[in-house]
Amino acid sequence: MTDVTEFYINGAWVTPKGTETMPILNPATNGQIGTLTLGNAEDADAAVAAAKAAFETWGLTPKAERRALLARLLEISEAREEEMALAITAEMGAPITLSREQQSASGTGHLRAFLEAFDAMEEEKTLPNGDILSHEPIGVCGLITPWNWPINQISLKVIPALAAGNTCILKPSEHTPLSAKIYAEMIHEAGFPAGVFNLVYGDGPNVGSAMSTHPDISMMSFTGSTRAGAMVTKDAADSVKRVALELGGKSPNVIFADADLDARIPEGVFGCFSNTGQSCNAPTRMLVERSVYDRAVELAAQAAKAQAVGDPMEEGDHIGPLFDKIQYDRVQVMIQKGIDEGARVVVGGTGKPDGFEEGWFVKPTLFADVTNDMAIAQEEVFGPVLVMIPFDTEEEAIEIANDTPYGLDAYVSTGDEARALRVVRRIRAGGIHINGRGTDYGSPFGGFKQSGNGREGGSHGLSEFYEVKVRPPFSA
Ligand code: NAD
Repeated sequence: MTDVTEFYINGAWVTPKGTETMPILNPATNGQIGTLTLGNAEDADAAVAAAKAAFETWGLTPKAERRALLARLLEISEAREEEMALAITAEMGAPITLSREQQSASGTGHLRAFLEAFDAMEEEKTLPNGDILSHEPIGVCGLITPWNWPINQISLKVIPALAAGNTCILKPSEHTPLSAKIYAEMIHEAGFPAGVFNLVYGDGPNVGSAMSTHPDISMMSFTGSTRAGAMVTKDAADSVKRVALELGGKSPNVIFADADLDARIPEGVFGCFSNTGQSCNAPTRMLVERSVYDRAVELAAQAAKAQAVGDPMEEGDHIGPLFDKIQYDRVQVMIQKGIDEGARVVVGGTGKPDGFEEGWFVKPTLFADVTNDMAIAQEEVFGPVLVMIPFDTEEEAIEIANDTPYGLDAYVSTGDEARALRVVRRIRAGGIHINGRGTDYGSPFGGFKQSGNGREGGSHGLSEFYEVKVRPPFSA
């Protein structure tokens, strides 16, 4: 059992004022693996007070000093990467291979890319008109993260916030406290001054809202559902905070007849199912040119049938369980809605896969003959559920791709470069994958429309955490 009963505030592990607890559950067994103490508004206040005091000095530290601490954090993160992978698998059920190669590895991957961006960042420069522009930290930042890619999200916020000279309060998802605890230990070991980084646990309506409304927090950086992102924005409005949002997605995967179908279709299926479908940028809507649609459904069915489900502690490319009962119930409701709306179940369906009665396992599910107005094509399912929609023309493909409230990622496959570029130009999404190739650490990640308004990672992610100040050159 790993009980998480202390918060990291002002450089020390302290007992919170909040006394409510919740179980930490292993999604693969639904067994309890620990207990988390949830904080309250008083805990948020204590963390903000520490961060506010620390900002007085941290905000003025030379860039080289901040960089040295981040470089030390990288060394420590590399040394604890395996421990981090095990914690993530235990708390949210990602299979250990995925936890190692992607979930845990994202922490060091983003940190390396941020260091590169930070080295290139000129915090002060002379403008062509002779005035001097300085990039300065914003102040105390509130960082709220989800459970599905816990360390990916924490790294994308904590590193640039601290690099730019801000101080912060991290409120990770209450469902994934173990990885966040290791992260705080690493920050402590790296030697960041007391109060620069603070960790409070708690739920959204209490601690999250106490942060968004707090007069001494200058910026909120939020990753999670579009629903909660809108609440953060409303809460932050009265104190006119900067709010950066990374929200949900329903990403289209547009496949033309001239694409390498044998490669792209299975890749699209496995891409959708990866992390048990619990990725904001998963390619969940596969749009296929009608002339090859039947063949594509066959290929997708083969891939979906081949998708193994298994114990997250075993190595391999199987998928694990969904992360909790709420998520399980939601996915069941969505699959049933798809059936009720007349989509054709090609593989999977409701219920648990044979042999997986314990834990929150679901059947990898493939729907064909979906129309884009169906709930399974419009709403984020957040499970291994792929919908296939035929299209006739390039114009129609673009129209369907854009017919969503979201705009996070989009995937395009075609053998024709000119067409790829035409389609990419018109799709309203922040990140594009072409013929199976996506972007790397250091490129900005974020969405159009209701997928958010922020960009995380690399130089764009770094610049979100700076204020800009201008002054004339000195003259007596
Ligand atoms: P969620 O919105 O339920 O919770 C996310 C975080 O917000 C948690 O820490 C939660 O405690 C907090 N929260 C909830 N209500 C709040 C409120 N009113 N005020 C302040 N904080 C509040 O989301 P989740 O279920 O943890 O994560 C899944 C969602 O996150 C999906 O919609 C997914 O697409 C999205 N996501 C987006 C990105 C991205 O970069 N765009 C990345 C990962 C996940």
